[in-house]
Amino acid sequence: MFAIAEQNLTIREAFLWAEDYLAQHDVPDVKIEAEYLLAHALGCKRAELYLNPHTKIFGVGVNHTSRLSDSNLQIFLDFVERRIKREPSQYIIGEQEFWGLAFRVTPDVLIPRPETELLVEKTIKTVSSKSEVVSGNNNIQLTTHDSRFTILDLCTGSGCIAISLAKEIADCRIYAADISEKALAVARENAERHGVADKIHFLCGNLFEPLLAPESFNRGKGMDVSFDLVVSNPPYISKKMMAGLEPEVKDYEPRAALYGGEDGLDFYRRIISESPAYLSAGGYLILEIGYGQAEKIKRLIELSDTFEDINIIKDFSGIDRVIKAKRKG
Ligand code: GLN
Repeated sequence: MFAIAEQNLTIREAFLWAEDYLAQHDVPDVKIEAEYLLAHALGCKRAELYLNPHTKIFGVGVNHTSRLSDSNLQIFLDFVERRIKREPSQYIIGEQEFWGLAFRVTPDVLIPRPETELLVEKTIKTVSSKSEVVSGNNNIQLTTHDSRFTILDLCTGSGCIAISLAKEIADCRIYAADISEKALAVARENAERHGVADKIHFLCGNLFEPLLAPESFNRGKGMDVSFDLVVSNPPYISKKMMAGLEPEVKDYEPRAALYGGEDGLDFYRRIISESPAYLSAGGYLILEIGYGQAEKIKRLIELSDTFEDINIIKDFSGIDRVIKAKRKG
């Protein structure tokens, strides 16, 4: 490592060294990881490692004399040292892409997963189908306080769900809650970054609890609000599964964002029993679910006797990933 720091490495040599060093420490996907960290150390995009003649590391026309500046080399070595301790690249870089948007991530928030994009996609579809119903039938009231579609995102974390929805749905009002004030600070920063801070109201507290506080609503009416849709990707890892997680997840991501109690279903029990009080008649509950949890969660929804039209939606790998239910009228 120190010997490397003193060497006048070309960009390609630095890449090959990192790939090897990461592999020796059993880091998965070393090629992609080394490229990702190198690109960030150089301040360029990963694609430029293939395309830009100055930073190119592969293919025809690799410039074998392009060297890393001392400061870029230092940054890169620091990144690689952190990565061999299995810190996720996203925390090292401070960013993760989700729904085509770059989200800031810190160890205070769960790193957004690509699977969660399915939850966003299904939520947008539900909103657009519900809006059509409304335009065809004036008897269905969208919200209790104004005509905007109102969404509650529980356990918002980095804000990835709330912010993606705010970007896609023109006329909406979103409430995004999280128990962690530190996570909310990250979510607020992400909302600012993507220009949707005025559409999202951030609330700190345990699931629905902050909705009981009158100051949650500018109009001072506390609970006098009902939502057209409640969405959440709650913590859902069971006690047994926690032990088997990869070190990147187990040692670095916030436990509070992962652990869902003994069987992983604690948050579902609460969300399913408490959400009917906050959902308008005909409103939707849409939740991400963990591997093997679909039938149990479906059963919890059925037992609550407050929902109908329960749907389980599979992700691209054929795994049950999202559950959707309609609040009875
Ligand atoms: N809503 C955030 C996400 O989907 C955080 C979820 C969580 O903390 N469990 O990434």
